[in-house]
Amino acid sequence: QAKQLGRNTWQWFAQEMNTQASYRVNLRNQLQDAIDNEALTVFYQPVIDSRTGQARSVEALVRWKHPEQGLVSPVDFIPLAEETGQIVALGKWVLGQACRDMVRLHAAGFRDCSMAVNVSPVQIRKADFVDVVKQALQASGLAPASLELEVVESAVLYDTDLVIRTLHELRDLGVRIAIDDFGTGFSSLSYIKLMPANKIKIDRSFIKDVIQNRSDAAITQGVISMAHHLSLEVVAEGVETEAHAAFLRRNHCDLLQGFAFARPMPYADLINYMNEHGSRRGHSAQTNE
Ligand code: C2E
Ligand code: MG
Ligand code: MG
Ligand code: MG
Repeated sequence: QAKQLGRNTWQWFAQEMNTQASYRVNLRNQLQDAIDNEALTVFYQPVIDSRTGQARSVEALVRWKHPEQGLVSPVDFIPLAEETGQIVALGKWVLGQACRDMVRLHAAGFRDCSMAVNVSPVQIRKADFVDVVKQALQASGLAPASLELEVVESAVLYDTDLVIRTLHELRDLGVRIAIDDFGTGFSSLSYIKLMPANKIKIDRSFIKDVIQNRSDAAITQGVISMAHHLSLEVVAEGVETEAHAAFLRRNHCDLLQGFAFARPMPYADLINYMNEHGSRRGHSAQTNE
């Protein structure tokens, strides 16, 4: 009986493994297809100046236009793309698209708005990464100072010297660096000292309960204070309610990002959003480009 059960369990397990493996191969092929045929799209989420309420930048967030599943979240394919290396081509495409869209937004009059693009730890280790960034800037005509690259702190956990050197080269180009999901990586505060960053993004897991949880409140206040003492700007992610925003304003958080202000949206909606909430400099004509 036990032997029988054991064997069934093993068979079930083997079958399950097999299904998972072929599921993954299938998913990888589908993703390759999406990259090759540009079945990806980039959404943009505004980041708000906590004092003026105006959008200062937008974050590029990729989505996959899946034929059956509709818009697939990056949470469901970025990890796979990192494992297979597909993130390199995918990330390059997102960077190019984001730069081109920001040039369009500047042409529409929102010249102070900058573009934030997520960079995977896998991408940043590639020897030609700095060239890829230069190329995206040159091809689009976007000024380097209008581009911000978001890197998680754990990106410097391995190959620390290589990654830090790359970050310095990017800073030398004039590109800005933000540390994403701050406080969640298995990294040490000493990396903060090493990373040539302009900005820290407090992970949304600290913001979620910041009103009722004293530890989250203390950590959030501490990170804001630390960032300012390091002359870094600080963004809170996952600002979902007016209470969150009020707490963060009271504690001098520079920038706010979250559903309380805007969800990630396609470029066409972003233009409308900016017409209402953006800051215009240069020419003053309204546009619906
Ligand atoms: P992230 O860089 O930390 O991006 C913020 C995520 O939080 C986005 O999820 C955004 O939609 C979500 N978010 C924003 N405001 C709120 C809020 O108020 N409440 C809640 N619950 N969530 C909020 P999204 O778009 O699903 O992206 C998830 C992650 O996927 C990103 O986290 C980033 O790590 C990764 N990702 C997205 N696009 C790219 C990309 O082009 N390249 C790379 N390497 N990673 C990307
Ligand atoms: Mg990010
Ligand atoms: Mg984040
Ligand atoms: Mg995140």
